[in-house]
Amino acid sequence: MDVVTARAGMRRLPLWAAAFVVFTCTAILGISGWREWSSRDALLKGAEAEMANLARSLTQHAEDSLDLLDSGVVGVVSRLEMDGTDSSTIAKLRNLLEARKKAIERIHSLAIIDDQGNWLTSAGAVSSTLNDDAFFRHHQLSPKREAFVGHPVKNLIDGEWVITLSRRFNKKDGSFGGVVLATISANYLANFYRQFEIGRNSSVSLVHGDGLIIARNPDNAKYVGRSVADKPLFRDPALGGPGGAYHFKSPLDSVERVSFYKRSGRFPLVLLATVEKEELLAPWRADAISRMLFVLALVMLIGLIGAVLVGQLRRGQRMAAALVEKEAHFRLLAEGSSDMVTRIGLDERIRYVSPSALRVVGWRASQLIGTPALAGVNPDDLPNVHAVVQALKRGEKEEARVTYRSRHREKDEIWLESSMRVTRKDDGEIDGVVAISRDITEQKNLENRLETLAIEDSLTGLANRRRFDERLAEEWARAYRDRSSLGLVMIDVDHFKSYNDEYGHPAGDACLRVVAKILASEAHRSSDLAARYGGEEFAVLLPNTDAAGCARIGEKLRQAIREAGLAHASNLPAGVVTVSVGGATCRPALERSAGTSSLVEAADRALYVAKQSGRDRLVMSGEVMNLPMASGQ
Ligand code: GH3
Ligand code: MG
Ligand code: MG
Repeated sequence: MDVVTARAGMRRLPLWAAAFVVFTCTAILGISGWREWSSRDALLKGAEAEMANLARSLTQHAEDSLDLLDSGVVGVVSRLEMDGTDSSTIAKLRNLLEARKKAIERIHSLAIIDDQGNWLTSAGAVSSTLNDDAFFRHHQLSPKREAFVGHPVKNLIDGEWVITLSRRFNKKDGSFGGVVLATISANYLANFYRQFEIGRNSSVSLVHGDGLIIARNPDNAKYVGRSVADKPLFRDPALGGPGGAYHFKSPLDSVERVSFYKRSGRFPLVLLATVEKEELLAPWRADAISRMLFVLALVMLIGLIGAVLVGQLRRGQRMAAALVEKEAHFRLLAEGSSDMVTRIGLDERIRYVSPSALRVVGWRASQLIGTPALAGVNPDDLPNVHAVVQALKRGEKEEARVTYRSRHREKDEIWLESSMRVTRKDDGEIDGVVAISRDITEQKNLENRLETLAIEDSLTGLANRRRFDERLAEEWARAYRDRSSLGLVMIDVDHFKSYNDEYGHPAGDACLRVVAKILASEAHRSSDLAARYGGEEFAVLLPNTDAAGCARIGEKLRQAIREAGLAHASNLPAGVVTVSVGGATCRPALERSAGTSSLVEAADRALYVAKQSGRDRLVMSGEVMNLPMASGQ
């Protein structure tokens, strides 16, 4: 991965972290929700299974009850067909019916009805007062001999709802002989159903195939006889099978229920067992809500912590980016500058140096880091530079500028000018010095050159008159302080006018240069100063020199020039270039009233005397101050 992609990845880190937190929260919520939902599903499935079992066994019970009824009815039918319906047979059968009814609790009543609809006999509270005789008309019209289960009818005697099971019996000739009827009371069924504790708002209903409710628990009295033929159970083709679970809103009490219906295969009966969804789910809901609240609180906590962490991550990144940018700016400034930027620690070693070090001192930054910062400073300048650095480190100064000579890796010594400034830690404590150094060698050279130009005579290279005057004043003051003697010799080339005339002006110049060179080499003490005083006249200043020394040097100069043997034909008798020399000395400390000019005048007068006395000689003025003015000479 390249750096740019890696940086982009780092930049997106908070985004990834936020996405991770959101994902985690969503996952926890999703999984918990899904778990709750599946436990709800399992609950409903369990309820469905329970309802299915209930419906199956109650259907079985209804079928068994009808079978029980039918087995009695079948017996009576065969007796009637064998023995006819005379009164003795009926009387015997009446006993049988009574006995049966007594023996079997679920039988509400039994009856024999003749072909005209007359009730021949009955057991139990049943009579011709049934509010519906559909079963009778069915058998009258249909030759079928199977048992017929009629829809619920109300017994007018005791007001009870009953279901009828009846069979036709034939006369000997095969024509319709009448009907044997047995009934089961809806109350019996309802009571039976009551034994099954399936919940407060649960219900069990037995419904006739045509939609009339036969029995229901609870509230049997309220619902029995009502028709639900227009409800989905009877209209929806999807619910037309032998049995199945379905969820519906009850048409009777508009409560949402989970139910299972079971159709009897043999009788027109449907059993419907239902349980109220709300009642079923209430405990689960309460639990689920408390669990989900807990999970929600957890997720919010995770979200909150995540948000705080992501925020911190972002803040950290922003700060890091700002820092990087700031550093980039500083680097740009430090490294783009032609000046050398150095950071020096308290141990005076280099902590950082900009790449321009290569240009300024000839060393690579990597070679300099860790080395002593003042290592290259010229020993003469070192005390000064060191003192400045110490003052900065001690906090005596905030900034300073210092100019010094320094070693360069390849070149000769260079001149550096450093602007230094203390650096401080956050708490204000000084932790080093930053120096911005530039090479000022060229500037220094130029300065030197200008200075030289100002004090040097261009023809001979000796000090010029201005320089001579300066030095004379300085040396005068020094001699005054030291109570020492200051000597001066004035030198004038003899008959130089005629030299020019004879050899030309350029040759005259060359001659002056030779004379100057001789003077410079003879006046070799570092404090001596040979100067061109003007034209072909020179002066040599001899500090700390008494009259004897002065005379000795003056004579030496004169001889040296003569011995140089520069041809000067018209300078007779020598025939070579000669000079006249006037010397003077003085002790400024002893001659308070005297000044520099008096020394020059004395030497000049001595020179004049030398000229007058025949040239090519030295004349000392003696103790000039004591001399009266050499009048007229
Ligand atoms: P004296 O022995 O009395 O000193 O005779 P002199 O000819 O040297 O006398 P003076 O001082 O009158 O003449 C000085 C001459 O030196 C005049 C001038 O032509 C010459 N001179 C002065 N300055 C220069 C110079 O820079 N170059 C040349 N070539 N000649 C110069
Ligand atoms: Mg002259
Ligand atoms: Mg002269």
